[in-house]
Amino acid sequence: MAFNLAKCDYCGDCLDLCKYTDYDQKSGGEQIRRLTQGETAEILTECVTCAGCNVYCDKGANPFDLILQCQERTGVYETTPTYYQLVETIDQSPGEIAHGEAGKPVINACVVEVIPHLFEGEIFEGCTYLRGGAYESMLAWIHVGKEAPLKKTLQTKVDALAETGFDEIVMFHDDCYAAYTTKALEYGIHVPFKVIHYIEYLRDYLKANADKVRPLGLKVAYQQPCSNRYTPWIDQHLDELFQIMGVDRVDRAYDRKNALCCSSPVSPHLGNETGEAYKTKNIQDALDHGAKAMVFMCPFCALQMREEADRAGLEPIFLTNLARMALGEKLPGQAAGLDDDREQIAGAVQIVKGLL
Ligand code: SF4
Ligand code: SF4
Repeated sequence: MAFNLAKCDYCGDCLDLCKYTDYDQKSGGEQIRRLTQGETAEILTECVTCAGCNVYCDKGANPFDLILQCQERTGVYETTPTYYQLVETIDQSPGEIAHGEAGKPVINACVVEVIPHLFEGEIFEGCTYLRGGAYESMLAWIHVGKEAPLKKTLQTKVDALAETGFDEIVMFHDDCYAAYTTKALEYGIHVPFKVIHYIEYLRDYLKANADKVRPLGLKVAYQQPCSNRYTPWIDQHLDELFQIMGVDRVDRAYDRKNALCCSSPVSPHLGNETGEAYKTKNIQDALDHGAKAMVFMCPFCALQMREEADRAGLEPIFLTNLARMALGEKLPGQAAGLDDDREQIAGAVQIVKGLL
């Protein structure tokens, strides 16, 4: 994906459909036109980097890539220093391998273990785990208005994963799946191992163990991570997984093409009050459409929204725990880790929520 000027007719649909700004087709098209002519435009400071407009543009022009490029060139995109430092620190942190049983899956857990009990139960027994920033793709650079560091670091990350010698790696962080598939392709980086999304792994595991699955009969609202905008085909695998588990994904306003960001990049950019307002809209939409639980695919989305969902009466559930529930397993704690009292995690929550 990169902005394709030849495909853009300045129709303005991308910004007309943006959930975070107030443009119509005419004024939205004008913003895009100004950017293509090397001028600056208000959208650069208003955009929250959700990448949604790449999906809204049905001409395939990828307007978010233009916006990001201009945010980086002009330096006008603002975030908090702690959020920026978090991204930098993760990028530079080392990696380690926890070897499991030969023949069992290899999971890239990178830096996602911000929630306890993510990889427990029979689904994950005997797996090998790759952990640390060395294996994290750092797609998160886009959320501080930058793409050059991602471009610079992605080859190193692919090399680190290739050096492990595994030929198939299950990506647990949706960011990593997106970066090691679409972004690597865009940058001309060869990825010498098979990249699998953990939703595919869950789906295939439950299919292979269909005799153990007990349909849950639960109505859920799904919180889609922004990185999923780069790999929309994963949503079909998720629908299949929900169907196997007997879970009803409610058809609500802020799902699929119209999904809202969890607010992780919104609060550090536009302030906590704005970030909270979007979370409230999102959760209210889930309630209005009859959901009883909110299901998270990304641990950072869960960290950001689980308390608010719980307070509103929606049980926050992490996707791997939903799969365990479908297998009839008893969970060791709360389904999205709300009972976690580790001190270092409390600090991470504050940073992710833009409170520091
Ligand atoms: S990027 Fe796409 S949606 Fe936006 S103005 Fe151009 S053609 Fe229209
Ligand atoms: S990336 Fe998201 S917030 Fe930014 S302009 Fe596109 S749709 Fe709007």
